[in-house]
Amino acid sequence: MGLRGSAVQHTSSVWKKIWRVKVPYRIQLFTWKALHGAIPVRDILHHRIHIPSMICPICHMEPETILHALVTCDKVENVWRISDLNVRTESFKDKTFLDWVNYWMDGNNEDLLASVMTLMWSIWCSRNNLLFNGRTDNERSIIHHAHSMYPNIGPRRMILGSNLNRYGSPHTSWNPPPQGWIKANTDGAWDSSSLHGGLGLVLRNHNNIFLFAAAIFCYASSAEETEVRAIWTAMRKARELKVKKLLIESDAAFLVDQLNRKEFCGVWNTDAYFKDIQDWWIEFEDVKFVYIPRTCNLVAHDTAAWAKNSCYMICSGQHRLSGCYQPYRKTVLICRFLSLLI
Ligand SMILES: [Zn+2]
Repeated sequence: MGLRGSAVQHTSSVWKKIWRVKVPYRIQLFTWKALHGAIPVRDILHHRIHIPSMICPICHMEPETILHALVTCDKVENVWRISDLNVRTESFKDKTFLDWVNYWMDGNNEDLLASVMTLMWSIWCSRNNLLFNGRTDNERSIIHHAHSMYPNIGPRRMILGSNLNRYGSPHTSWNPPPQGWIKANTDGAWDSSSLHGGLGLVLRNHNNIFLFAAAIFCYASSAEETEVRAIWTAMRKARELKVKKLLIESDAAFLVDQLNRKEFCGVWNTDAYFKDIQDWWIEFEDVKFVYIPRTCNLVAHDTAAWAKNSCYMICSGQHRLSGCYQPYRKTVLICRFLSLLI
């Protein structure tokens, strides 16, 4: 803990990567300090100068480590989720802060790393605003503050940055799949207070002709569950339509990474969906999962959000959804809604 005796490995290469990122120096320095346990979170102060409590002053639930304060605190998770990065940080709860930074450095995408570093810094400013000025910043203002730290370019750069995915290919808008493939865009939406969820999925061919679309309301216990269920539903529908080659796009980067590694283990509320996806995979000639930024997944995103907020399920296409997809079956068919979206 602290600058001396730090566990950060490969120090110079990490520093070089941080230095190359085109963000203000204070943000580079902040990231560097965070990696060396040199920002004054309560867990560190408790051990160093024996302040009475190490508990997070924001959520009052867990010790305030650097990882907790910047990434995994319940209040912070939502900032990451609704940002352009659309990250589910709960899976980092049993990891280290270095794991988190390495995850973003591995892609060698400086724009992505810039977004992450700037958002961490803005989250830290917001934490200090609350503690020392009694001011509560909402999630949108934290994200906006991060955007404003890109001099001369502003929010636009953040959007451009997020358009470069982890595989290095630039996306600026939705692109049709190659001939012979069907592309499914999927998204999940979730509200942590009501546990209302929404799934959005749209299946289209290489001529941009849509084959099927659905907005499905559900109850869910995590954001990740809605994302997995959206993919699961798209895959199930593709089987019904006897699709041979299926390309599934999602803006849930962790999920896409996991499926591309062919890891099909989930937690209690997602494991069954992963197992179905594993079983169904071999029935297709080919299946690919691709991460795309939210800006290129807007139809699925809007559809999922609409389902969550309206508590309805609607679908449209030559083939309707069959079987019981949700425990809550208030089904209303409003094809016009989806035809307006697409
Ligand atoms: Zn907390």
